[in-house]
Amino acid sequence: MSKWSRMETELSNLKSSHLYRKMTAFDSGQQKIVYMQGEEKHLFSSNSYLDMCNDFRVKEYASRILQEYGIGSGGSRLTTGTCQIHTELEEAIARFKKREAALVYNTGYMANVGILSALAKKGDVIYSDKLNHASIIDGCRLSKAEAVIYKHNDMDDLEEKIKAREGMSGIIVSDGVFSMDGDIVNLPRLVELADKYHLLSMIDEAHATGVIGDTGKGTEEYYNMEGSVDILMGTLSKAIGSEGGFVCGSRLLIEYLINTSRSFIFSTSLSPVTMAASKRALELIEEEPERVKQLQENIHYCCSQLKKNGIKGESETAIIPIIVGEEEKAMRVMDNLQEQGYYISAIRYPTVAKGKARLRIALMSSHTKEEMDGLVEALSKSIL
Ligand code: PMP
Repeated sequence: MSKWSRMETELSNLKSSHLYRKMTAFDSGQQKIVYMQGEEKHLFSSNSYLDMCNDFRVKEYASRILQEYGIGSGGSRLTTGTCQIHTELEEAIARFKKREAALVYNTGYMANVGILSALAKKGDVIYSDKLNHASIIDGCRLSKAEAVIYKHNDMDDLEEKIKAREGMSGIIVSDGVFSMDGDIVNLPRLVELADKYHLLSMIDEAHATGVIGDTGKGTEEYYNMEGSVDILMGTLSKAIGSEGGFVCGSRLLIEYLINTSRSFIFSTSLSPVTMAASKRALELIEEEPERVKQLQENIHYCCSQLKKNGIKGESETAIIPIIVGEEEKAMRVMDNLQEQGYYISAIRYPTVAKGKARLRIALMSSHTKEEMDGLVEALSKSIL
């Protein structure tokens, strides 16, 4: 047997069970119309919910910083990799999320892994929602704490699990908006339990920032509970349209992470260009709340059109999952939609449970009613 045969066998098994993955390269940037091998497609799967990747003011500011600072940052944040723009972005995030301080990581993935492994020690417990993002799962794995998985958004189950370990210190962690289902965490109960049992609360705002709450401030704003979560984590790669992860909270929390969080400490920091893009995008989201409003109207419109056409797909967030079940069917629907000029990613195991494959619609503030009508019509043809 060759030393490569195990990999070959695994890949061939993935192919036969319709779980093989490959990348699609677009010939254009991330916008609602993309090109694939010269063909135009309507993109309904991007996380660039507010179309910030393409805003000319973001591009202008990032270009200016590019000319001034060049490309790479040249070091990790604690050596030579902190420019003024890194600090400015952190101040802007802290202001946006109404916190004392913030810290930028290179990705949201690295933030989750770095926060959880730094804060949860041997003898602690991390209570994690069953549908939390993979980066939270990997953060639990990397920490020395016991990971206890509670039923999805089920606060009674969570409380039972906490009671069984009463007195142990730890963290309750949940996505704010769940990345593959688009539903929203029961924040009031989660915070209540964290307070009652003296646990830290941590919310991942990846898909909530710029999307929910009257002005897009996220899960706390959605529930009118500003300032209630201990550790607010998020990413700059979705509605903010750039790159990087962040955490915000008290000065003490941030000081602790700067000194102990390995994925923050041991990696070269992001380029000043990326920082600039995030900073300008955040400003624009605050200056132009109508973008967030438009996205929220699009969500409402698209869901009502789906319903009218007999397609099950409800959501209060930019993520609308259309669950088709079998992996093979999800791939078939995705291909069929592409033939009709629509690009929607099929999501399969292990990102979601086996047999729960889905088309993951993600809306952007720039989608028009006509474009959403077109999507619903194409979906009706390929699903029903
Ligand atoms: N958390 C959630 C809920 C996510 O959906 C993602 C990205 N898919 C991340 C964290 C990771 O963020 P990033 O892409 O910036 O690494």
